[in-house]
Amino acid sequence: MAWEGLRALFTVLDDAHFALAGRAIQLLDWDRSHRYCGRCGTPTETKSGERARLCPACKLSAYPRIAPAVMALVCREGEILLARSPHFPPGMYSALAGFVEAGETLEQCLEREVEEEVGVRVSRIRYFRSQPWPFPNSLMIAFVCDWTSGEIRPQAGEIEAANWFKVLHLPKLPSKISIARRLIDAVANEMRAGQ
Ligand SMILES: [Zn+2]
Repeated sequence: MAWEGLRALFTVLDDAHFALAGRAIQLLDWDRSHRYCGRCGTPTETKSGERARLCPACKLSAYPRIAPAVMALVCREGEILLARSPHFPPGMYSALAGFVEAGETLEQCLEREVEEEVGVRVSRIRYFRSQPWPFPNSLMIAFVCDWTSGEIRPQAGEIEAANWFKVLHLPKLPSKISIARRLIDAVANEMRAGQ
C-alpha cells in the first residue's frame, strides 16, 4: 500500500473508484477550508442532518462548493479546433475550457471563452456530457459547437498554440478517461463516419 495524489491516479483508477476518491477529496478540502465562518469569523460546527458547516453565532451555513466549467469543441467541415495550454505535456492538444462567471449561462460562458481564447465565433451549441473534476472542485460541462466566423488568434499567456486539425490526423490527445478525450473521440468518429 502507498499514498498517491489523486492526479497521479487519474489514468490508473477506473471511473467508479476515481469518482469516489474525487468526491472524498473535494469534501475534505471543503471541510478544511470552512473551519471559520466567512461572514463573522466564528469557528463553524458540523451541521446535523445535512452536509454543511454551520456558524453558531450568525447561523450562516456553508455547503460544499462546486465551480462549473465549460468545455467546447469547435467544429467545421471535417476539422476540429484544438489548443495547447502552456502547462500541457509536450505535443498534447485538447478542447477549449474555462470557468463560468457569476451571472453567466453556460452558453454565454462558452461563447465568451472561445472568443477570448482563440478569437472565433460559434453557433449551434449542443450539450455532450459532464464530469466532476476534483482539482479542486469543478464540474466540467462539455459541448460541441460550430464555427461561424473569425481566424484563430491564440490568447497570450493562456493559449500557447491553437489549430484546426483534420479528424484523420489528430495530434497527441488527453487520456482516455478524461471528458475532453471522450468529447474529441465522439466528434471525430462521427465526422470520420460521414467522410
Ligand atoms: Zn458567522
